[in-house]
Amino acid sequence: MNLLNNFKSFEDIKHYFREQVKKLHPDKGGNKEDFLNLLEWYQNYLKNYKTIPKIKVVKNPPLKGNCFFSILDLTVEEVALGGKKKIQIFGEEKVCPKCNGTGKNQNGKIQVCNFCQGKGIIDNLNCPYCKGEGYLYIENCKECKGKGKIKTLKEIVIDIPLGLKNRDILFIPKEAVNTDYDLYLEINILPHPYFILDGTNLIYKCNIPFWEVILKKEISVKTLEGEEYIPSELFTQGTPIVLKERGPFLENNKRGNLIIDFNLYVPKDIPLEAMKLISKAVKIIEKDQRI
Ligand SMILES: [Zn+2]
Ligand SMILES: [Zn+2]
Repeated sequence: MNLLNNFKSFEDIKHYFREQVKKLHPDKGGNKEDFLNLLEWYQNYLKNYKTIPKIKVVKNPPLKGNCFFSILDLTVEEVALGGKKKIQIFGEEKVCPKCNGTGKNQNGKIQVCNFCQGKGIIDNLNCPYCKGEGYLYIENCKECKGKGKIKTLKEIVIDIPLGLKNRDILFIPKEAVNTDYDLYLEINILPHPYFILDGTNLIYKCNIPFWEVILKKEISVKTLEGEEYIPSELFTQGTPIVLKERGPFLENNKRGNLIIDFNLYVPKDIPLEAMKLISKAVKIIEKDQRI
């Protein structure tokens, strides 16, 4: 069974296991062999799970040790929906190809080698200092800034933990991503044109023109799953509309709410002709409703 990639958290696995037990238990008419296979799979999973260090949120990163600290930009959707994230980190160091590891600019200025007085040879042997050249490069290689080595970039893929908040520090143990240092990434949630994360909820901010509420049966709103239509009468209450469990995915199989925080939009300068028509409409409505 290779279902692990479909699960977002350990809680999901537990939940899946419980559901399967209900279905497959021989007492409930399930197949005994399937049930035993399920138990074996779960036991193996638990064994392996304990040995894999976990990506988690930590209070403070350590100030010493072999670790790397950086910022991880995430969109509101990535935080709310979880899933996989590709990250570029520093991989192994390699010899600088520009200077072949010498750290010097080989097209730059030179200086006579003091060790061999520019001869390149000492006692019939190549000068160890200038390697027989008789001169030395004195400018540092621009590519590696004189180090002779450059850091390579490596792409890793992590599971975004659910329930992240802005400025949380994510600890990624080296064993989890096969690097030689631990990673500490401060979460930076990027501003979104209409979504705002608020604790465990997601707020959708919008302006709804007043005539849409009057003229349309349904009004278009944005959700994490895309565009949706909800009855326009809900926009007459004056309070935000709460779509239960349609917000961010959280740990323990929970989900926050989506809150539609709307403003009824009334234009500032309505043309006189339109004002006359609106007044006319209001008179008809008043008559009809006997206000
Ligand atoms: Zn020399
Ligand atoms: Zn170099």
